[in-house]
Order: sequence, then C-alpha cells, then structure tokens
Amino acid sequence: MKPLDSHNFNPELEKRVKNTINDYELINDGDKVAVALSGGKDSVLTLYILDKLCRESDLNFEILAIAIDEGIKGYREDGIKSARNNASQLGVDYYELSLEDELGFTIDQASNFYKTSCVPCGVFRRYLLNRTAHKLGSDKLATGHNLDDEVQSFLMSFARADIRRFPKFGPKLERIHPKMVPRIKPLWNILEKEVGMWAILNKVDVHLAKCPYAHKSFRSRLKNYLNNLEEDKPGTKMKMLEFFQKNLQVAKKEVKLYECQICGEPSSAVICKACEIGDIIKKKY
Ligand code: SF4
Repeated sequence: MKPLDSHNFNPELEKRVKNTINDYELINDGDKVAVALSGGKDSVLTLYILDKLCRESDLNFEILAIAIDEGIKGYREDGIKSARNNASQLGVDYYELSLEDELGFTIDQASNFYKTSCVPCGVFRRYLLNRTAHKLGSDKLATGHNLDDEVQSFLMSFARADIRRFPKFGPKLERIHPKMVPRIKPLWNILEKEVGMWAILNKVDVHLAKCPYAHKSFRSRLKNYLNNLEEDKPGTKMKMLEFFQKNLQVAKKEVKLYECQICGEPSSAVICKACEIGDIIKKKY
C-alpha cells in the first residue's frame, strides 16, 4: 500500500475505500447501514463515501446517521452542529441522542471520577450507538476508524497484554450476538492525514477541534509517538497495519457474549460495562 497520490486524490481515495468494502464484503445487498457520525473528519468522510456508493454503485443498500452528544462543554456542541449539517446536506436520515437524556449524566460529570474520561466516554458511546443502531433495524454500524486509529488500538491492546481485544482488529467485526450490530470500518487503510487532506481539499464542514480530555489518554501519547516514528521513517504505520493484517488470524478466537442482567444489552460479562460504570457514576454524583 502506498500513500494516496495528491494529483488524483479524490478518485484514488474513493477507489481504495471501495476496494476495502468489496474485498472484505463490508456491505451486502439490502443492508441498512448506520453511520456513527461525530461530526469529525473521519466520520464525515465515511458518511460521504457511503452516500456516494449508495447512489452510484450496483450495491443496493441504505444509510442513516447516528450522533451521540457525550456532554463535553465547549467542545461537543460544534461537532454536533457539523454532524447535523452534513447529514442534512446529503439528505441522510439523522438520529441524535445525548448521554444526559439517555443515561442521566454527562462525560464532564463522569470525568470527576476517572483518571481519563476516554474510558467512560468510549464505553457509553459504543453502548448507545449499538443500542440505537439495533433498534433502528441496522445490519451494519459503520465507524470512521482510520489506519492510525487501528494501529494505535492494536498497540494499546498489545501494551496491556489484552488479547481479548485482538478480534476487534480488522475492517469488519462479525455478528457475535443477535443484539450486537456488526461494525465495519471503511477507512481502515486510509491514513489520518489523508482524511484531513480530503476535508481541506473539498472544503467540507468538519469539526477539527481537539477534545479537552484527549491529552490525558494513553492513545494520545501513543499517537504522538507513532507520528514521530512516521516522520522519521515514512510508511511505518502502513507496514504495521500490513503486519497485523497478515498475522492476526492466529490471535483471533471465538468471543462469547451474554445479555447484561440489568439492561439486556450484549455484554462480555453478566453485567455490561455501561451499567457497571454508570452505577458507580450515579452513586458518586
Ligand atoms: Fe471522549 Fe476521550 Fe474522545 Fe474526548 S478524546 S471524545 S473524552 S474518547
């Protein structure tokens, strides 16, 4: 895999995403695909490309967008605005939920009890996205994960010796529970800087601000480290992705999911993480 050619940028980008969708059979005829739309560049590009594919390719599928307002003051409002604008510009059905309405607290409130807000934020966002996508009858949940995100996630699991997360690596996660909507990652082999170039070249309204909690996370430190490596040795991230892609099958194993005894949503334990963490936050707040 080579970086995209800047002279023929849009067609090359679309071709690479289409190839990923076809090669890994991310979307099937008749699918209803929910796009997790944050308003950031990655999710907006995912929405644009899927919308274009939907209208122009032979694949017959429909899309909708779901945005989650996590409740991060001074940051999330602009992302939500961008999500609304892009969905409306494309005429895509748009559903918006807030953590406060759905669960009774915001990430700003939860952040008082966690060293890094990214832990509860990720748990609750995934929870609400899956629950909503399932309620809406979606066959797939498309996220904006790009190549950088994938390499970071893999290295995070590797550094934590958390082999349970390895099956989550890759452009498509199979359905492992009737209530778990399979996730697909159409931007899986697109570099983050290429997504940024797409937004700038096409003057797309995306939310580019950095979350005020991001700097505290392990991911953020890993991201800086990988960016430095890439600057010294261009192509490092792509080589890492290729290596994982070739060797990961060995680590994949069947994952069993239960239904949470409190909310009934799919969970790897008898009580799901959203109920477990949510209960702690509610008691402390
Ligand atoms: Fe949530 Fe962390 Fe992302 Fe901020 S950086 S939106 S707290 S996951």
